[in-house]
Amino acid sequence: MAKWVLITGSSRGIGRTTAIYLAKSGYDIVLHFRSNVEKATDVKNEIISLGRQVRMLQFDVNNRKACEDFLKKDVEINGAYYAVICNAGITADAPFPVMSEEDWSSVINTSLNGFYNILQPIIMDMVSARKPGRIVTLASVSGITGNRGQVNYSAAKAGVIGATKALAVELAKHKITVNCVAPGLIKTDMTENIDIDAMNKIIPMKRIGKPEEVASLIAYLLSDDAAYITRQVISVNGGLC
Ligand code: NDP
Repeated sequence: MAKWVLITGSSRGIGRTTAIYLAKSGYDIVLHFRSNVEKATDVKNEIISLGRQVRMLQFDVNNRKACEDFLKKDVEINGAYYAVICNAGITADAPFPVMSEEDWSSVINTSLNGFYNILQPIIMDMVSARKPGRIVTLASVSGITGNRGQVNYSAAKAGVIGATKALAVELAKHKITVNCVAPGLIKTDMTENIDIDAMNKIIPMKRIGKPEEVASLIAYLLSDDAAYITRQVISVNGGLC
């Protein structure tokens, strides 16, 4: 029977690559995005060409009411998800003394409030399904070590790590694992303005990571082999920490 996986922010970057990687691994995909219909449709077509099923959901993870309405309706019609990947995230970097209220709130709302907005409406359906399940959240090296110019992002991602570990404890007895993947620097739109040469000097592996290197870890966490791994933060960062 098809295993459906919801991936937030799967129109671009790590989410997109993960959606395609998981489709290749035999999962069916609920492809969520906010604004980029064209790119999301490209991903949808690629998944269909792989012979998998796909549904598209468009809403802003900051909008609690929209999350609840779209997700509850989708689950009511199609059944509980096997796995949810909370991937949607943004950065809005600035030194803290000049960080605007908007930069603070938008980053916290997308990553940390997004955790609540996405998972809370559908979690009871996963539990009631009485089947093994998987939740994977995306944090960052920034949420573990704290990064200059990213007080908002580090706070949001550290919050995601705490929420992930706590939810893992609550769901363990239901055979639903909850883990956090913490990438270092990965080549996506999010990192297009970063000085790669400067970063390569401080990354022990001397290169930026590929989205596939994050997607393969997520795929492993979704597999039966990873059934006993929960409450963990697993980094993919070329040794950057
Ligand atoms: P991208 O900027 O490439 O893609 C972000 C995705 O998130 C897009 O699909 C975008 O949708 C979606 N998104 C953003 N905001 C919202 C929102 N409010 N509501 C719904 N969807 C939203 O990011 P990456 O792929 O690089 O990052 C993915 C995750 O990995 C993020 O959580 C990020 O913090 C984390 N991460 C990334 C690192 C990196 O180096 N790239 C390093 C560490 C962590 P749309 O296109 O429709 O706007």
